[in-house]
Amino acid sequence: MRVFSIPMRTRFRGVTRREGALVRGPAGWGEFSPFAEYGPAECARWLAAAREAAHEGWPEPVRDRIPVNVTIPAVDPERAFAMTKESGCRTAKVKVAERGQGDADDMARVEAVRDAIGPDGRVRVDVNGRWDVDHAARMIRALDRWELEYVEQPCATLAELARVRRRVDVPVAADESIRRAEDPLKVRAAEAADVAVLKVQPLGGVAAALRVAEACGLPVVVSSAVETSVGLAAGVALAAALPDLPYACGLGTLSLLEGDVVRDPLRPVEGEIEVRRPVPDEEALRRWEVPAEAWRDRALAAQEHLAGPAVIEAAP
Ligand SMILES: [Mg+2]
Repeated sequence: MRVFSIPMRTRFRGVTRREGALVRGPAGWGEFSPFAEYGPAECARWLAAAREAAHEGWPEPVRDRIPVNVTIPAVDPERAFAMTKESGCRTAKVKVAERGQGDADDMARVEAVRDAIGPDGRVRVDVNGRWDVDHAARMIRALDRWELEYVEQPCATLAELARVRRRVDVPVAADESIRRAEDPLKVRAAEAADVAVLKVQPLGGVAAALRVAEACGLPVVVSSAVETSVGLAAGVALAAALPDLPYACGLGTLSLLEGDVVRDPLRPVEGEIEVRRPVPDEEALRRWEVPAEAWRDRALAAQEHLAGPAVIEAAP
């Protein structure tokens, strides 16, 4: 097991370094990088994803390129315009409802992104659950002046999402509402969303996520958990294996990290990521490597909640 700690270019989920473990098996390398707040039972699914990558391999791809979106943080309109242009992406996801900012800031940012991407580009907004139902209905109608592709997690709960969805014409995507395999079915049952945002590690692997996608019957946007290229490759494999991929994916996240563990990172070129699986490079690995003990303990604790063959040996 090799453990990495890579500084983040921008703070994300309150963390300034992205840490995780890489495990190697006959099928290749897998990444185990649950966020710090997750306990062993929750981490077991993330470990299952690493085991699949290292020991089982992934389903066959049906496409060789994955369109990805650029993510525009809560920056001023000039910066938002420039970031959208520079990205080369045909889809932009704009963060809105940032604490300390107002509706006018969000409108100015979305307008700038629409200007930058042109009439044929797609613009979606991500609210991270921060609006109430009335605020959401009002803002979605106002922002749809610049033609929204969809609005991601406008409110926190499924009941609220369902109410918003009945009041606006813009499709609603569920992100934070989906954290485990049974969640997409709840989203579906509550008629809370038109689109499901899925991530490989919390769902327990590529094959498991594919089953979830099939069972929930909603179009899927594959998103990363801000992994290195080793973990991202699993997200790319999921996006490559889905029968339909109508939306750009949230897999262009390597730019959030200062570095990577491979020599040929999974970065988007002209808005697309090539379907491939880079392998860790010894020099890159050593650059970000930290002692393995804490992550070994974490993986062993998670393994106790995981059925099937062991991934981690108890002795270092
Ligand atoms: Mg989101």
